[in-house]
Amino acid sequence: MATRRRSTQRKEGHAAGTSAGRPADRPSPLSPAEVEEFFRRLAEVDPLPTTELEYRDPFTLLVAVVLSAQATDKGVNRVTRELFRHARTPQDFVRLGEEGIARYIRSLGLWRAKARNLYRLSQILIERHGGQVPRTREELEALPGVGRKTANVVLNTVYGEPTIAVDTHVFRVANRTGLAPGRTPREVEEKLLRVVPEAYRRGAHHWLIRLGRYTCRARRPACWRCPVADLCRYPDKTPPPSAGSGRNGDTAG
Ligand code: SF4
Repeated sequence: MATRRRSTQRKEGHAAGTSAGRPADRPSPLSPAEVEEFFRRLAEVDPLPTTELEYRDPFTLLVAVVLSAQATDKGVNRVTRELFRHARTPQDFVRLGEEGIARYIRSLGLWRAKARNLYRLSQILIERHGGQVPRTREELEALPGVGRKTANVVLNTVYGEPTIAVDTHVFRVANRTGLAPGRTPREVEEKLLRVVPEAYRRGAHHWLIRLGRYTCRARRPACWRCPVADLCRYPDKTPPPSAGSGRNGDTAG
């Protein structure tokens, strides 16, 4: 526990709710039938949802998720492609040491704290967990740099549990659409767990991140090409580029 308290990298938490779709102008929630249809369509578009972070096993996923705080998945993947060529196990990370880890991750935000956390986390995995990534939320959240969101991603992605990690994208989409309005990531997570049909719970986090990252973006949501536009409660939907504004004319996604 002492190690955990000394950790200087903040456990995840988000300045969620600062972009459009904030809880202050909450829409009415979707009905159960609308929620079912919402996920049916996302599943149709992306039948095998998974993280965009590159990893080989539970440990390398844990490392990638710890590195992803205040960094893009693309930036993390660039770093881990090289890092994982030299270190793939907790033993490798301990051998590299804090400075050695830091050398590979300097392009990412919070790199000092992340290097320290990954070094300590690797020591703890060896000392207390036989070098394996633990399977319980409590054990995961006791690791340096690992908060609820990271634990949810690991539990979902490598252990197949129907957890729903709420990052800034999921928070925004859940509020804008009316799917699971909430003031905090935890409130949104709890609502999502209540409203998302069981069949879609395991994929929900990945579908919502994808929707938020490529379509329902913070500044210029691409409502005109959104698969759930007719279900979404967002009042200021963007028109297609041909409608003349020009400001929505991107083609990302
Ligand atoms: S219609 Fe627009 S606001 Fe609603 S989910 Fe789609 S992109 Fe987001």
